[in-house]
Amino acid sequence: MNPDTLRQYLEYYRDLGFRTLYKLPTARASLEAAPPPELPKPAAAPQPPSLPPFAPPGESLFQILADIGDCRRCRLYEGRTKLVFGVGNERSPLVFVGEGPGQDEDEQGIPFVGRAGQLLTQMIEGTAHKEGIPLRREDVYICNVVKCRPPGNRTPEADEMEICGQFLFRQLMAIRPKAICALGGTAARALTGHKEGVTKLRGKWFQWRDIPVMITYHPSYLLRAYNQAAKREAWEDLKKVLHAVYD
Ligand code: URA
Repeated sequence: MNPDTLRQYLEYYRDLGFRTLYKLPTARASLEAAPPPELPKPAAAPQPPSLPPFAPPGESLFQILADIGDCRRCRLYEGRTKLVFGVGNERSPLVFVGEGPGQDEDEQGIPFVGRAGQLLTQMIEGTAHKEGIPLRREDVYICNVVKCRPPGNRTPEADEMEICGQFLFRQLMAIRPKAICALGGTAARALTGHKEGVTKLRGKWFQWRDIPVMITYHPSYLLRAYNQAAKREAWEDLKKVLHAVYD
């Protein structure tokens, strides 16, 4: 890659807010103390870039998915059954962002299809119905910060979020929704950089680039029986988002 192209890549990711980029090690790199000097390559042989391709403005979700490909950019691919990219209306004015796939999502390749997903669907459709907004789950877009299931459903690690977050950001740039709803602390951190607990952050508007972000509880948290008060709060948060987007 020539220096101008490399500079373009780095400026692009800097503008997206990235501070660190990771280069995948080559298979034998750690085994060889002193690799032989590289021979000049024939000019005709294209070199695959070690960074993800420069994202052109106006790229489609399909192009982003193609770029993800059979992703092995972080360790999460090791336990993956299916990569979970996103689902719903790619022209939706509202995008929900969760943390990462669980077991059901990993098996089906679709976000929020397990118990937490059923609750999310009820929350979206139930709140919209009560508020007089004709909205179905399939009218919005739903995705996650990381696209592969973390082992044992653990929280994604910082490097996993950073690597996979670039695809989330590209999805959001492609959709350009009127608002984003961040479900839980991981999505909140990825989109706003705030590290405080959701209890502190929920119900308030933040921004990802120029797009308003509402933070609320993750549906898995709401599934726990003792979280009735949190459930009410999440319904209030959702009402705010729906009115902001659909009024
Ligand atoms: N939890 C998430 O954060 N995302 C899903 O897709 C499912 C459960």
